[in-house]
Amino acid sequence: AKQEHPGTYQVYDPSLDDKQCSASELEPELAFALRANQFELFFQPQIDLESGKIAGAETLIRWRHPKRGLIMPAEFISLCERNGMIIPIGYWAIHQAGIKLKELQLQGYDNCRIGVNLSFRQFQDSNLSQTIHRIISQNQINSAFLEFELTESALISDEQHVSYCLQELSNLSIDFALDDFGTGYSSFALLQKLPISTLKIDRSFIRNVADNPNDAEIVRAIINLAHSLDKKVVAEGVETPEQLDFLIQHGCDQVQGYLYSPPVPFKDFVQMLEQA
Ligand code: C2E
Ligand code: CA
Ligand code: CA
Ligand code: CA
Repeated sequence: AKQEHPGTYQVYDPSLDDKQCSASELEPELAFALRANQFELFFQPQIDLESGKIAGAETLIRWRHPKRGLIMPAEFISLCERNGMIIPIGYWAIHQAGIKLKELQLQGYDNCRIGVNLSFRQFQDSNLSQTIHRIISQNQINSAFLEFELTESALISDEQHVSYCLQELSNLSIDFALDDFGTGYSSFALLQKLPISTLKIDRSFIRNVADNPNDAEIVRAIINLAHSLDKKVVAEGVETPEQLDFLIQHGCDQVQGYLYSPPVPFKDFVQMLEQA
């Protein structure tokens, strides 16, 4: 295993594994892993640039494999999308995120928003909104502080159905963020029509924002677009003080990235809230 961020956690690296674990080797283990509670949500803080405080966190799934160590989502999420396991795993993630949100609120962090990634594939479950509704009511989750992140590809895959689901879920006060914004094809009309409150600028535009005029122009345009549509804008993948300066100067609302923190286990996230 290699060290992705110094001093944080071990990640599974297939190139260093002599067993050469492939996606097909992991596939038969997915259902068992879910039952055996081997998945875990990590939390990456999102910082509000006006107050300088933690406004919430995006949850990111990890697989604590008993033999292979910590497996990153790049190794198994697309596999789960292909074989449909993303549906039960996705419900597990919403349930977990909701439980952690409740814990935060019990500890007095009652303005902390929790983001959950939602794959386009999860919309193919015709019971998506009812099931989410049930998870929320059975566990008495304060859904006004949940925010689902979806990509533009989810929006355009089946516009009618997705738009119906978003309406249903926004009736529960759930918010939506458009992930990886700038890399897809959603129209202004769609952006205005759907209950999307946040645009997340894709990391690929942030990477060189401080020294590439093209990327700087794109990021400026996305921030202005978001604000003119009355939406919040979050930059992801912020790694350097120069990138942060640019985003502050151009009025970006929130940032997340290694500059502040990589995704961390829940207890570490709570510690960050305590120290803030
Ligand atoms: P994403 O939703 O675009 O998540 C952002 C990714 O960028 C995360 O990778 C995060 O760890 C990483 N990241 C955050 N800050 C930085 C930074 O400053 N620099 C760099 N280089 N990377 C940064 P991660 O955790 O490996 O997740 C990868 C993808 O897997 C996510 O992309 C998302 O599409 C998917 N995913 C993760 N968790 C879930 C989940 O619970 N459900 C679903 N459906 N998909 C998930
Ligand atoms: Ca995301
Ligand atoms: Ca993203
Ligand atoms: Ca992404």
